[in-house]
Amino acid sequence: MKVFLYDLDKCNGCHNCQIACKDEHVGNDWSPYALPQPDTGQFWCKVDEEVCGSVPHVRVNYLPHQCNHCDDAPCIAVAPEAVHKRDDGLVLIDPDAAKDLRSLVDSCPYGAIFWNEELGLPQKCTGCAHLLDDGWAEPRCVDACCTGALRFGEEEDFAEELARAEVLLPQAGTRPRVHYLNKPKRFIAITMVDVEGDEVVEGAAVTLQRAEGAETVSVLATDEFGDAWFENLAPDCYRLRVQKEGYLDLACSFDVTEKDQAVAEMRFYRVPIAI
Ligand code: SF4
Ligand code: SF4
Repeated sequence: MKVFLYDLDKCNGCHNCQIACKDEHVGNDWSPYALPQPDTGQFWCKVDEEVCGSVPHVRVNYLPHQCNHCDDAPCIAVAPEAVHKRDDGLVLIDPDAAKDLRSLVDSCPYGAIFWNEELGLPQKCTGCAHLLDDGWAEPRCVDACCTGALRFGEEEDFAEELARAEVLLPQAGTRPRVHYLNKPKRFIAITMVDVEGDEVVEGAAVTLQRAEGAETVSVLATDEFGDAWFENLAPDCYRLRVQKEGYLDLACSFDVTEKDQAVAEMRFYRVPIAI
């Protein structure tokens, strides 16, 4: 059975996959696999962009997504007469049987099914099954990905990578066939600044602990830019302590349950000289 595998470390947000999908399906009738996608309002493959942190500690994450061709697909459960799973794992909506079946749109927990008002039809990614059946090795989106971030193939051939991969919305229990490597986690980034000397501070020891239990997560030294980046953090509350000889210890708390945190100028004060 086939799987899609995204390596998000390699995704540069070029949108080639999204554009190739449009090129293949907008205005093209691939009956009985799918009727034409309308010009606007549908994204069978979509690249979402998320800007995290704040200047100068900024990172842009890209998340391409599509129908997950789930093994326990809620869309099939809702309308087994109109949606089916092929032997290769792809889930297809039958355009004839699904006519006027608007309820199908809400059955997908991923929002991967769109309503075509003009045709009165629910529509979604077909995995370019019409091309695969015509001898293509992969769908258009995969063919268009020039960084190798998106691959498609037999599940067994990706076994080692799939063991490390994640899926979207695992709590939905749908057993997706679209997997993700290197899904971004949270980060905390700071720049230590000597306010009296008006310069960044290199070599300060920065200790990150979980707020609850005080377990040490990581210890870093600020680099030549005064920066310390703590990457791949689980969403949680953390306590940060900064120490360097000649400076007063600094402590602060960060909550990264909802978003990444960045401090452009964390002020370090020198130990007062006794007169
Ligand atoms: Fe069905 Fe949605 Fe799963 Fe695709 S992602 S198979 S549309 S439930
Ligand atoms: Fe990312 Fe590849 Fe899609 Fe470009 S084509 S956005 S690199 S997955």
